[in-house]
Order: sequence, then structure tokens, then C-alpha cells
Amino acid sequence: MASVLLREIHEELVAIKIDSDVQKLRDELFAQRKCLGCGKDIDVRERRRKGQCSACYQAALRNIKAKKVSARRLVREGKWMDEVRKGRPPTNAFTKYLAEL
Ligand SMILES: [Zn+2]
Repeated sequence: MASVLLREIHEELVAIKIDSDVQKLRDELFAQRKCLGCGKDIDVRERRRKGQCSACYQAALRNIKAKKVSARRLVREGKWMDEVRKGRPPTNAFTKYLAEL
């Protein structure tokens, strides 16, 4: 379990090279709220994780844990967002205060 965690942390730290065409397609799908796995529309009320719908995210996670595929490979193939998209930056003193909690 600890080795899996370490590997995941390591993968977060190491920059992953991604082809610019793959990245462009991934960003387009992400902007259109389409799942990076199956390509179906993700409703705004549905939770999106790593750019995927719930079914794809759960399947990807299962396969990553079973070592059938690595998160790094999914990122390289444009099927897994490698970064957390942050919301709007804090704009006033109160939201800055909240952001720093
Ligand atoms: Zn999907």
C-alpha cells in the first residue's frame, strides 16, 4: 500500500511529456465537458474527476491499482488530467483569507 502511495506521489512530481496534439484534443474535450475516457457528455451536476465521468474514473482507478495501466500512461494518452484545475483566484480580502485556510 505504501509503495503504491509513493509511486503515485512520485508520478505527481515528475513532469509527464504529452504530445501537443493530444494535449490540444484533451483540453478541447475538457472544455466541452466531455469525458476523456469514453467521450460522452458529462452533465454539470455530475462530478468529474481527472476529466472523466464516474464510470471511467472508477474503471481507470481500478486498473491503475491492479497495475494494468499507469496514471502516467493515461496522462500521456490524454485520458487523464494531470493537474487539478483551480477555480477563480481569490478576488477580495475575504476570499483570499478563505483560500489561505
Ligand atoms: Zn466516461
